[in-house]
Amino acid sequence: MRNDLPVMCSILKRVEYGATAASLTIQYPCQFQPGQFIMAWIPGVDEKPFSISRHNPTAGTIELTVKRLGPVSAHIADLTVGDRVGIRGPYGNPFNPQADCVIVSGGVGLAAVAPLMEMFPNAPALYGENSSTQIMLADRFPRMRIFTMDGSAGEKGFPTDPLPEILAARKPKVVYTCGPEVMMAKVARICHDAGVAGQISLERYMKCAVGVCGQCCMDGERVCVDGPVFDSERLLKGKDFAFRGLDKSGTWVYKAQPE
Ligand SMILES: Cc1cc2nc3c(=O)[nH]c(=O)nc-3n(C[C@H](O)[C@H](O)[C@H](O)COP(=O)(O)OP(=O)(O)OC[C@H]3O[C@@H](n4cnc5c(N)ncnc54)[C@H](O)[C@@H]3O)c2cc1C
Repeated sequence: MRNDLPVMCSILKRVEYGATAASLTIQYPCQFQPGQFIMAWIPGVDEKPFSISRHNPTAGTIELTVKRLGPVSAHIADLTVGDRVGIRGPYGNPFNPQADCVIVSGGVGLAAVAPLMEMFPNAPALYGENSSTQIMLADRFPRMRIFTMDGSAGEKGFPTDPLPEILAARKPKVVYTCGPEVMMAKVARICHDAGVAGQISLERYMKCAVGVCGQCCMDGERVCVDGPVFDSERLLKGKDFAFRGLDKSGTWVYKAQPE
C-alpha cells in the first residue's frame, strides 16, 4: 500500500556526515523494494524525491540520506530529531535484485544502492566522492571500496576505474549503479563491452512522481513511473542519457559529455 498524499512524519534519528550530508531515520511504515524513492515535502518550501537508503519494516521506519545541494536538500538535511516532514510513496520501479552482482555508486547515488549493498554484503561495492569530507555510510559498509578524486581517502581515482577488470574476473550477472549521469554512462559502456547487464537508477528533476506532469521525461519515458531504474542497453540506445535533461522550468539543458 502506498500514500499518494503526504503524511507528516517524525524524524527519529539523525547522523551527520561532515558539512555535506545527513541520514535521517523517519517513522513511515511502508512496503519497499530497493531502488524506490519517496517524495519529501517541507510545507512552504518544496517537495523533492529521495531514495530510501534503509528500510526497517519491523520498526516501521525508513532512512533518507540527503546531500546539501540547494535550498530543499539543505532544509531536509538540517532537520533534527522531533521535526516533521511530509512523506508520500514509495514510488518507481525497483532494481531486480540478483546476488551475483557488482555495485557502483557516486556521490549521493550511494543512497539508492545502499539497500542492495545490505542485501548482498559480499558483492563488490565501489563508491566515489570528490574528497574525504563527503564520504557517507562508511561505518555501515566497511567493506565497500572508496575512491576519491583528490586521493584524500581510499583509492585515488573513480569508482569505474577497476570495473572492467572486476567484470572480466567475476563475470557477474548484473551491475547496479546510481550517481552522476556521466559516471553511469561510463558504467553502461563498460557493461556493454563486457556483455554484462546494467541496471541504472536515474535522478532527474521530478514534480508529481506519478507520471502526470512530464517534468522527468527523457527519451519518451517518465523517470518517475517507467524508472527510476532502467536497463543500461535501453539507455545507451536513446539520445538523452548523459546528454540532455529538463531543468526545473522544463527547458532542455545539455550536460557535459563523458570522455
Ligand atoms: C529518484 C530520485 C532519487 C533521489 N534520491 C536522492 C537521495 O537519496 N539523496 C539526495 O540527496 N538527493 C536525491 N535526489 C535529488 C533530490 O531530489 C534533489 O534534486 C536534490 O536534493 C537537490 O534539490 P534542491 O532543491 O536542494 O536543489 P536544487 O536547487 O534543485 O539543485 C541544486 C543544484 O544541484 C543540481 N541538481 C539537483 N538535482 C538535479 C537533477 N535532478 N538533475 C540535474 N541537476 C540537478 C543542479 O546543478 C542544481 O543547480 C534524488 C532525485 C531523484 C529523481
